[in-house]
Amino acid sequence: MLSTLRRVAASSQLRSTLAKSLVATQALPHGFTRTAKSSHMTARWQSTESAMFCRQCEQTADHHACTTVGVCGKTPETSAAQDALIHVLKSVALWCTAARASGTAANVLAKANTWTLEATFSTLTNVNFDENRILEYIQQGEALKKEFAAAGVATPSHPVAHLDWLNKTESQIQEAALLVSVPERAKLMNHEDAFSLHELATYGMKGLCAYAEHVHQLRQEIDGSSVDESVMIAIHEIYAKLADDTADVNGLLQAALKIGEVNTSVLAALDAAHAELLGAPCPTPVRTSAVKGKCILVSGHDMVDLYHLLKQTEGTGIQVYTHGEMLPAHSYPKLHAFPHLAGSYGTAWQNQNFEFSCFPGPVVVTTNCVLKPRKIYEDRLYTINATGLSGIKHVKNRDFSAVIEQAKQCKGFEQTAEPATFRTIGFNHRAVLPLADQIIEAATAGKLSRILLIGGCDGSQWNRSYFTDLADESPEDSIILTLGCAKNRILQSEKFKSDDLVTNQITLPNGATIPRVLDMGQCNDSYSAVVVALELAKAMKLESVNELPLSLAISHLEQKAAAVLLTLLHLGVKNIRLGPSLPAYISPGILSVLQQNYNIMPVGDPSSDLKMMMEGK
Ligand code: SF4
Ligand code: SF4
Repeated sequence: MLSTLRRVAASSQLRSTLAKSLVATQALPHGFTRTAKSSHMTARWQSTESAMFCRQCEQTADHHACTTVGVCGKTPETSAAQDALIHVLKSVALWCTAARASGTAANVLAKANTWTLEATFSTLTNVNFDENRILEYIQQGEALKKEFAAAGVATPSHPVAHLDWLNKTESQIQEAALLVSVPERAKLMNHEDAFSLHELATYGMKGLCAYAEHVHQLRQEIDGSSVDESVMIAIHEIYAKLADDTADVNGLLQAALKIGEVNTSVLAALDAAHAELLGAPCPTPVRTSAVKGKCILVSGHDMVDLYHLLKQTEGTGIQVYTHGEMLPAHSYPKLHAFPHLAGSYGTAWQNQNFEFSCFPGPVVVTTNCVLKPRKIYEDRLYTINATGLSGIKHVKNRDFSAVIEQAKQCKGFEQTAEPATFRTIGFNHRAVLPLADQIIEAATAGKLSRILLIGGCDGSQWNRSYFTDLADESPEDSIILTLGCAKNRILQSEKFKSDDLVTNQITLPNGATIPRVLDMGQCNDSYSAVVVALELAKAMKLESVNELPLSLAISHLEQKAAAVLLTLLHLGVKNIRLGPSLPAYISPGILSVLQQNYNIMPVGDPSSDLKMMMEGK
């Protein structure tokens, strides 16, 4: 069905109309090459006949694109619906920008802001596999435009603002989606580097909106507010810019860097909101073994969801465990204070199928990452907020009563595991910065050879062992800062697989000891690493963080990682090793610019890379 529609789309009137709206390509900034119609580009883009085309994450098929079904399990139908939703997001953004300019429709704007963040979040890798939910977001976006019009906002002149998919059937949306797929838009733009920047900005926007949605959830809980309006203005202006298929290399580069700038403030707001609601995170040993009794598991990143579940399970005797990126929850005093927050179970998202199968109770997956479930546990699985899986129960209004009832019916853990095992977490910037003087003194005295930042998003590919090997081979007088689910790679290393604070520690000049691996939290806590680097550079009177004895090896997978990368570029951070492979959407021309200006490097052999890192390269 889809391939037929794709052929129809290739010859459609709309495509030629959109093509005519393109303007001539502009002068390129220093370092860019114009490679339009190169054989490389043609080979990459000749996918019009494929069932789908998605290359937004690192695990994309053959490091090219998922063209039959997603490596993540996403179907062509869901992929097309997400392409359509992104187009609607651009259309609504044009209306939001017009509404702000006309000074009207504040109430509709507030709704549109909330919708923009949640709808965008639903398109990230491993968030929502439920095509019907994506189609609902499309209808909600189209209805918002009608509300703007009813509130007196004049229809913006941009053709994308005129889109009208309200009440369109599923097949009509699927057909329309073909016109806004990656291959179709790439053909329209007809400029490889510009399109590469367009994709980088699109995926960076997805990550930015996801982080902003986390802020929104926290602010709603704190005082009923949301992300700063300046953030939403920037998000809508960038989406409006991305509505263009013009090969405006300079404009797209500015848009990508703007995403990095805005994301820096969003990550700061996220850090502040977490601490405001839940208390300042602090180093905390977390139990990683079972406690006898009924149980519920919570995965993902949304602390507010966990907080409400803990409130609703108080006094029931049910133990609540964290999975994956929920681990840092234990370092927040207000969450740690719940005696039935029993511990952490399992590892990173890619092991969900096995780990959820074995868990003897229901599992709640907050945003993100969620995998399509195995039969064995699908009746025990619940999604919430932007997460979605076809046929899986969805928690609304944070009412966990069905989850709690099911936990009472499930077996639970039959015995308490002995001896108990623990893992120490919670090295947020608030815990690390008080040690700054000692860290600097140790570095100056030659007792601290290097600070290695090894972290980011994890995945299942074999070559992600690079990050394990890097940690394993790191010298004993180095410190490893880590965050995101890639921290699990470090914990697979021989050196760091046990929470052994006797051998895996470093002694500071004042005699105090700290663990060699400092777990700073989720990828949502990337701001912690940024603050530590900036403050250390300031304390050492260095001109930039690039002069610190600091090396970065970043594991990337999905679109939050793209936003964090743009944040690092915005801050002028150089010499980042990125892997296990570079994003498929980065063209050779754009890669060359990133290499020339930021010295971004693909990861290589761990031993050779480590040798170079120790030499400050
Ligand atoms: S999100 Fe990643 S794995 Fe899933 S379809 Fe897209 S590129 Fe493939
Ligand atoms: S760090 Fe990235 S890959 Fe890992 S769970 Fe979070 S969003 Fe997913």
